[in-house]
Amino acid sequence: MRQRQIIGNWKMYGLQKQAREYAQELLHKLPKVLPCAVKLAVPFTLLQEMSSLVKGSSLIVGAQNMHEAAEGAFTGEISAPMLQEAGAKFVILGHSERRKWFGETGEALAKKVQRALLVGLEPVLCFGETEEEKGSGMTRQVVEEQLLEVLTSLPAELVQRIVLAYEPVWAIGTGKHATGEWAEEIHRFCRNLLASHVGEDVASIVPILYGGSVNEQNIVSFLSQKNIDGALVGGASLRVESFYPLIQSLIQLR
Ligand code: PEP
Repeated sequence: MRQRQIIGNWKMYGLQKQAREYAQELLHKLPKVLPCAVKLAVPFTLLQEMSSLVKGSSLIVGAQNMHEAAEGAFTGEISAPMLQEAGAKFVILGHSERRKWFGETGEALAKKVQRALLVGLEPVLCFGETEEEKGSGMTRQVVEEQLLEVLTSLPAELVQRIVLAYEPVWAIGTGKHATGEWAEEIHRFCRNLLASHVGEDVASIVPILYGGSVNEQNIVSFLSQKNIDGALVGGASLRVESFYPLIQSLIQLR
């Protein structure tokens, strides 16, 4: 069985006061036992505080990026052990904003995923095509390349500890979202690709999330698809008011 999940990505938003208020409000609503996982990727500066606020609850806290080395002379960077010490349980890797603005390469990403797995942090690997690539019919080719540049370096036992997130770049933060049917087609393609690399058994347990302008109005169209195991949510995760209804949809749907 694949774990259904929803991940909120706060990006570079949030100060301590907001985080405390948010945690208090969300934890008040969130059941202690859930049929799915609810996760929040916060800025580095909020990791420690958020991790201690959510102790004993069903909310899981993680980070949005890390360096591939365990330590070293990399000014301004942060390592997997540092994230773990601050309370992160997972880390988003390869988000399109990192690929676009910070030149994140497939080669570095493969190392980051390996490093995260080595220390026991769950990697959430993002991938997806640009509008131009979609327009020229290259979506499958692009997602295949992005997945294989990371997955080919990993044995099946490690691949089964990864979460994948299909995030079409043209849908992130734009208000434009894929249709449930389109996303399902790409998710099915990715699951078949996984199966041909690591076998059906592993492919059947790796969660594949959809991300890109998910909101209260469209979330059910994604969650009702067979190969979509949850959502990665940016903008709508910034306020409990807009995030909690998405969590409720996930809890109620199956
Ligand atoms: C994201 O940041 O991964 C994302 C999907 O953002 P949004 O939901 O705002 O499109």
